[in-house]
Amino acid sequence: MSTKDFRFLEVPRQTPRTVPVAVRVLGYGEISGEFAPSEAASQSERCIDCGNPYCEHACPVHNYIPNWLKLVQDGRLFEAATLMHETNPLPEICGRVCPQDRLCEGACTLEQGDFGAVTIGSVERWVTDEAIRQGWRPDLSRVRETGQRVAIVGAGPAGLACADRLRRAGIAADVYDRQHEIGGLLTFGIPPFKLDKSVVLTRRMVLEGMGVRFHLGVEIGRDIAFDELLADYDAVFVGTGAYTYVDGQLDGRDLGGVHDALPFLIANVERLLRDEAPAPEYDLAGKHVVVLGGGDTGMDCNRTAIRLGAASVTCVYRRDEASMPGSRREVGYSREEGVRFLFQQQPIALVGDGSKVTAVRVVETQLVDDGDGRPRPRNVEGSETDLRADVVIQAFGFQPSPPDWCEAFGVERDRSGRIVVGGEGRLPLQTSNPRIFAGGDNVRGADLVVRAVYDGREAAGSIARLLATAKLTLKVAV
Ligand code: FAD
Ligand code: SF4
Repeated sequence: MSTKDFRFLEVPRQTPRTVPVAVRVLGYGEISGEFAPSEAASQSERCIDCGNPYCEHACPVHNYIPNWLKLVQDGRLFEAATLMHETNPLPEICGRVCPQDRLCEGACTLEQGDFGAVTIGSVERWVTDEAIRQGWRPDLSRVRETGQRVAIVGAGPAGLACADRLRRAGIAADVYDRQHEIGGLLTFGIPPFKLDKSVVLTRRMVLEGMGVRFHLGVEIGRDIAFDELLADYDAVFVGTGAYTYVDGQLDGRDLGGVHDALPFLIANVERLLRDEAPAPEYDLAGKHVVVLGGGDTGMDCNRTAIRLGAASVTCVYRRDEASMPGSRREVGYSREEGVRFLFQQQPIALVGDGSKVTAVRVVETQLVDDGDGRPRPRNVEGSETDLRADVVIQAFGFQPSPPDWCEAFGVERDRSGRIVVGGEGRLPLQTSNPRIFAGGDNVRGADLVVRAVYDGREAAGSIARLLATAKLTLKVAV
């Protein structure tokens, strides 16, 4: 080992500076600042190249992390960006929104030794932002066009990753989305303080430069029939996400002032894009807001409510803090920005004055260990209390919402509505209809951006294999 291998003893883990709380809650800008080039290099030097890169294993797209950290140390920015894109078509986005504490950084050998993980996500983000700013673009000069064409339904991370890989394989990629901008939940879900919308627009420019064609404001099944896509294209990738809200079945959920998380977040993003004031029902100035749910969506609602000027924001979760599904970083930011957390409280009803919600009735829970991993909450009798609420936001999660036309084309779904892919005799991500592939939240249920990216990437690989075989068969037949 050289002295360089012990840099982690001299250089502490350092993430980019965040905007001070008092400033950040006044607006919607990203709260994380940027590394200076020297900071990115010195943080990269902390990697000990341990030989067993658990970080790569824990990263769902299996990024070549120690290799690109080395390139950053050596100042080889464009080569680092190229290497990152070999495994991840959206590195600047994953660098911003991945829960690194549960993935790559959680597995870093330095983290296990209590030295603080290498700041992998921040370096990934910095490299891509900076390289694109300096003019780096994917090099497709050696790609030979196959003449084959694939339609992609959904411009979320799964669809975008699939489009990127198809273009690299010389296959034309036409992406259809019912929204007027690309990104799926990256644009119309995740708030701008986590992911500025200009980042998605930059990625659109990169993808269009690669030859990806977007057809926006087009809903497949309404504006274009699915069978037209099947007739016009060699294969179709379906990356339509998960948009069915999990309903907590609470009495009083129809009262005024009770909202589901996604319409609330989408309305806020859309009005910000139009530079408008919030609609009256989403104007939270001076209101007491209760957010139900402890996942990332709940944290986004908390922090959006704070920015909308709520008098108080209380986040209610039925298990304890250690069991929260959201990223630790996002929970920390919520707390810093003034959110109060109530753990081990189960909402049992929404109370109102006839038309409007006035309180959330909660009951304490005890956590019971069933031995199957996560503790199960059990309500404690006689422990009901009412929490004052002018507005309640339900963030209980999402289930897949596979389009109705799936069934008509023989695409198998499981009991919870997820599209079934892969398995015996099928290529990875191939559905029961051999020319239809699927991935992301509509296959997994609500999950993570980086897993949707993985699916899109792998599906494109499978499509390329299928089409290569088809071409070969055709040639032999001729
Ligand atoms: P989506 O991103 O949902 O994209 C699907 C696209 O398909 C949409 O654009 C939709 O308009 C389009 N579509 C659907 N049907 C049709 C049709 N018939 N015709 C045309 N277009 C159609 N993950 C993280 O990793 N980190 C986070 O911090 C994080 N925060 C989140 C915050 C919120 C509020 C939410 C809701 C999710 C969050 N996630 C986060 C999860 C992440 O956003 C999703 O897992 C990911 O976006 C799924 O990607 P996807 O491509 O499968 O689907
Ligand atoms: Fe970590 Fe996500 Fe980047 Fe993988 S894609 S290295 S998990 S930040």
